[in-house]
Amino acid sequence: MNSRYNFVVHSYGCKVNTYDTGLLQKRLERAGFQQRVDKPAVHIFNTCAVTAEATRGAIKDARRVRAREPLATIVMTGCSAQVDGAQLDHLPGVDLVVANSHKGELESLLDRYFRGELRERVFRSNIFRKEDLEAGGGVEAGHTRTFLKIQDGCNSFCSYCVIPYARGKSRSIPIRELVGRIRELHAQGIGEVVLTGVHIGDYEDSEMAQERPRDLSALVEAVLEQTAIERVRLSSLEPVELNERLLALFANERLCRHFHMSIQAANTRVLQAMKRQYSAEDVEWALTAIAERVPGSFVGMDVIAGFPGETDEEFEDTYGRLERLPWTRIHVFPYSERPGTKAAALMADAMVPKHVRAARAARLRELSSERFARAALTQVGQVKAALILNTPAHGAQALTRDYWPVQIEGAESMVLRPGHEILVRVTGYDHSNESRMDGGLVGRPLES
Ligand code: SF4
Repeated sequence: MNSRYNFVVHSYGCKVNTYDTGLLQKRLERAGFQQRVDKPAVHIFNTCAVTAEATRGAIKDARRVRAREPLATIVMTGCSAQVDGAQLDHLPGVDLVVANSHKGELESLLDRYFRGELRERVFRSNIFRKEDLEAGGGVEAGHTRTFLKIQDGCNSFCSYCVIPYARGKSRSIPIRELVGRIRELHAQGIGEVVLTGVHIGDYEDSEMAQERPRDLSALVEAVLEQTAIERVRLSSLEPVELNERLLALFANERLCRHFHMSIQAANTRVLQAMKRQYSAEDVEWALTAIAERVPGSFVGMDVIAGFPGETDEEFEDTYGRLERLPWTRIHVFPYSERPGTKAAALMADAMVPKHVRAARAARLRELSSERFARAALTQVGQVKAALILNTPAHGAQALTRDYWPVQIEGAESMVLRPGHEILVRVTGYDHSNESRMDGGLVGRPLES
């Protein structure tokens, strides 16, 4: 085995990029490359461009590797390689830049590079022409639950977001292939699959047109009917992507009562400036519908604080509305300018001062911590199905179907098998459990 063919992939950003990294590792191994963490010959940076800071972070890491290993081969790929060419293409010490448009052929480009057959070192083309979408990923050794990419790209073009320019238009993996993949994963001992993508609400299987749209609900229905996997979880959804058909599927307890709602704000004028496809009333409908139709659900949300032009009154409107609505936790993001987005270009003179963004974010985080703690205490005494994530030696943590992290009490005297689901009685709430934002539950397995 030629040592210059051993590699490591440095992975950044979202679950979709983690999935892409897993797939890339698999494809490189199939092509004769070998994974090696200590002093590999090839360092591949699978970058994230969601913020300017994310790109800067990967560049810093690549520079550090170059300084430490002058003979290593350095490859920049991923979203920054697609949208931040100005920063990457002339970066000293980078051997190849392979944008998302060409990520599917990275192993053959690397092979040709080592054969001295490449004249170019930057591979990038119009991402909106990208049609292909690789299936077959999803398992990293030792994982008990896995993120399965069902869709890539996005057709929305929200004003603050660069992702459509990095990943192209929405493309979906056919239901038939995903059902087959989930059966394989289940046969490999995976107990939970998280259906993920850049914008899963855009999911559409165009393989076989039918009278009913083959959208996300159709996929979830097929997974529940045609596979035996114990737990199915959905990643982010927008308020308008919830509908009666999807909500009705949660009657099946294998579909985890956990919603991650990408709302970003709860004031209609701000949502319009963000180019989001819904109003504050839609946010109200969605959160209320979840509470009524799928009671006991864990509802997490993403909210941006201090979007350009957001006035004090508009922020108070968002804050007040969220205070009244049912949810469990908020992930708060103070607005950060992302070069290459409409918001950064067109709203430069409407920027909310950084200290005001921070103050608004702090208020939302405080509201969220109080709400999370109150919700956690109502779990005490309940019996829940919890998936063992790791052994006592590694913390004895588990995750319930409704997304509560549980620390298993008395684990040191038990045999806990990662990937197995057990019933636990919740005995307490430990907000000092640093391993999770806002802490987690404590529970004792029921005698089997
Ligand atoms: S829906 Fe909006 S925020 Fe989400 S990936 Fe698409 S453009 Fe970005």
